[in-house]
Amino acid sequence: MIRFQDLLLSEKSLHALARAGFEEPTPIQAQAIPPALEGRDVIGTAATGTGKTAAFLLPIIERLAGKPGTRALVLAPTRELALQIGQELERFGHARHVRGAVVIGGVGMEQQRQAFRERREVVIATPGRLVDHLQSGSARLDQIELLVLDEADRMLDMGFRPQLTRILQRLPRPRQTLLFSATMGGEVADFAAAHLRDPVRVEVVRSGTTAARAEQRVFLCGQEEKLPLLLALLDGDDLSTLVFTRTKRRADRVAKGVERAGHKVTRIHADRSQGQRRQALDGFKDGSYRVLVATDIAARGIDVAEIGHVVNFDLPHVAEDYVHRVGRTARMAASGRASSFCSPEEGALLRSIEKLTRAPLPRAEVPRDGEVFQSESARAAEGRAHQGLPPHRRPGGGPKGRPRSGSGRKLASHPPGRHGSPARAAGGGETQAASGGSARPAVRLGTWKPRRQR
Ligand code: AMP
Repeated sequence: MIRFQDLLLSEKSLHALARAGFEEPTPIQAQAIPPALEGRDVIGTAATGTGKTAAFLLPIIERLAGKPGTRALVLAPTRELALQIGQELERFGHARHVRGAVVIGGVGMEQQRQAFRERREVVIATPGRLVDHLQSGSARLDQIELLVLDEADRMLDMGFRPQLTRILQRLPRPRQTLLFSATMGGEVADFAAAHLRDPVRVEVVRSGTTAARAEQRVFLCGQEEKLPLLLALLDGDDLSTLVFTRTKRRADRVAKGVERAGHKVTRIHADRSQGQRRQALDGFKDGSYRVLVATDIAARGIDVAEIGHVVNFDLPHVAEDYVHRVGRTARMAASGRASSFCSPEEGALLRSIEKLTRAPLPRAEVPRDGEVFQSESARAAEGRAHQGLPPHRRPGGGPKGRPRSGSGRKLASHPPGRHGSPARAAGGGETQAASGGSARPAVRLGTWKPRRQR
């Protein structure tokens, strides 16, 4: 088994790792740190939850300690992820006097200008805001020797290619580039080929592989059954739960329904201010809220150690997002549960997810006879009647008809009441196989207790 001591890290870094409770390197750390310390370019295929942040921060810290000036730039797709990287840098960089500046949108520019003037060693930025600083002349990137592109697939998906290109044009050459991505599809591969030199490839989760330890299941249901189903699931366990919806408005509506049912819930999406997003995330982390309802973009990179249950209230439009979402709940040596709600019109999305993960998702029975499900359905029907709207027709036809999947395929289902038998996606287990690192049994995570003390 590889130990941190084997990775040629300094004593100070080893102490910081011990203080942080990191006992042994994760596979991505074991594989990426040595070539990164040697100055090689690295392409790491690894999702959030694999320990990739420390895999790039530790080499940055080792290589920059003692050197003045801004010498490393980390680009990340979302503000939340950038803030988390900043926190992790504080944890490990402090003893080596390697400081970070987090440069993100949604907050004032002046403090960030000040951080540039101070020539902090590492700038951690979202691409849009960094381009603003480049335009106004406040960003100083002329000494950068190390560039990290974190969640490169997502940055490209989000349309940041023009910003990335502009930023890269302003960076000195030669430089070292570390690129991390949960998936390694065409665009990322092209981008990497254009900007990296003879990279070492490190892969801990095969492209399109869902988190190996997550229990996954899909509920085939009508659109109007989704809220009753969610409330029934929340009633059936006590896991901390992250719910993904397709749009901001749906996030608001779902959060309202969950709140009405008496659960502690908060929301995070792009229309919320940076302060509200931070408050929501902190509250979810510290247990003030059991449920966080989020849209993809905002939730990207959320590092909450103990999410027990991820619910895809709506299936993602991009199949790769399924991998990212489920990655929230199977982290390190712990396992979680992932439930996806698929309405008939989402059948094609389900098929593309199954194609990407190369495994059918186990079907689970919608608990239509359960008390919570029925009372919420009745409430919704009453609401519709009140508004003079016709009752919803079940997608399957009759009153208890089974909804069609939209795929026209015959679908297996779990027996009623048996929620989510463990199902591992194809290729699961490769993560550990890479280093033999975590042979430990998976720990169930994410039981929610009101206001955990951290
Ligand atoms: P990341 O994939 O970088 O977002 O990391 C996921 C979580 O695992 C973070 O909370 C890290 O602090 C934690 N972590 C990373 N590496 C290790 C390690 N070697 N041992 C224990 N925890 C770790």
